[in-house]
Amino acid sequence: MDTRDKLKMLADASRYDLSCACGTADEEHRRRGRDGAWLYPVTLASGGHSIMLKTLLSNACSNDCKYCPFRGEADTPRCTLQPREIADVFMDYVRREGIFGLFLSSGVVGTPDRTMEMLNATARILRSKHAYRGYIHLKVIPGASNAAIEEALGLASAVSINIETPGKRHFDLLSARKNYEQDIIRPLKLISEKTAPGARFERVRKTTQFIVGAADELDREIVRYTFGLYQRLRLNRVYFSAYQRGLGSPDIPGERRTEAQPEQRFLREHRLYQVDFLFRKYHFAEEDIPFDSNGNLLMDRDPKLAWADRHPERFPVRANTAGRDDLLRVPGLGPTTVSAILKIRARQRLRRLEHIPLKGKRLALAGAYLAFD
Ligand code: SF4
Repeated sequence: MDTRDKLKMLADASRYDLSCACGTADEEHRRRGRDGAWLYPVTLASGGHSIMLKTLLSNACSNDCKYCPFRGEADTPRCTLQPREIADVFMDYVRREGIFGLFLSSGVVGTPDRTMEMLNATARILRSKHAYRGYIHLKVIPGASNAAIEEALGLASAVSINIETPGKRHFDLLSARKNYEQDIIRPLKLISEKTAPGARFERVRKTTQFIVGAADELDREIVRYTFGLYQRLRLNRVYFSAYQRGLGSPDIPGERRTEAQPEQRFLREHRLYQVDFLFRKYHFAEEDIPFDSNGNLLMDRDPKLAWADRHPERFPVRANTAGRDDLLRVPGLGPTTVSAILKIRARQRLRRLEHIPLKGKRLALAGAYLAFD
């Protein structure tokens, strides 16, 4: 295979990893580059949009993650790109298409440190030979040594390592080779420590991802871990990837559950992203999140609406006098609308619902929870 053929296979294989600012797995959220390699739209920290080259370095893997189509035992075509090949192709894209950056992940080629060395070597070539100063996101390989992780932190703009499950018991259902504490939690803690405020690699962003529904975890457990990842390990983002049946080994819980149709799996993923938003943008606490009697999120309404329905004593919220946090609890009102309300209030009183800068269903929804003088 030549470089372009390998890139086509490996860029396509990287779609299962969402630990970057890229769009979801939906086809419409990404587009093919001119040569067949996948380029992903990304949302920039500044709020704008660009595109990123996202690829695996190799889809060969010595690990046994039972949810993964590239686990060692799987009968699938394999190939590996050399660091110099990736660097050359990437710089070609930078010159011709002005792309924003590189997201580079990999299966485990031999050992974790050998793989990390190939990922780090790619970044080294870009930084030194090509003097590339732009965005590089490196995946940290589970089980990599502290020294290899620290080198990645010195080269990358962002790093990620996927936590996969909320806790060891669920993790052990999915892999017999990987050690949850040693291979996943240790690197996450090290990354958190080395990127803490005032630390040497403070500028490096860090993210992680749960594989949702491959094991038998509850939403309550994922939510608890997510909160801890933000609060204690100061991660910048937590991503959720719905397990897609048929990709993994038939003996994992995610394959045996017959009731979960694909749309329900993606709805579960969507509900977890809504909770993630409530943490990051609406100042919700872990204990605010409502679950059903089994410990899962409600599928028939979003978690903010479910919270409001369980707390009638908090409503109606007075549109003219309530603080920002109380307004953010009103279903239908997001941070942008709340900021707009506060600005309007500085000039005039809000006399009726139509003074709220919203339209249609969201305005009607908010109206059921607001009071005007
Ligand atoms: S480490 Fe696990 S998830 Fe990653 S490529 Fe290998 S088998 Fe797949």
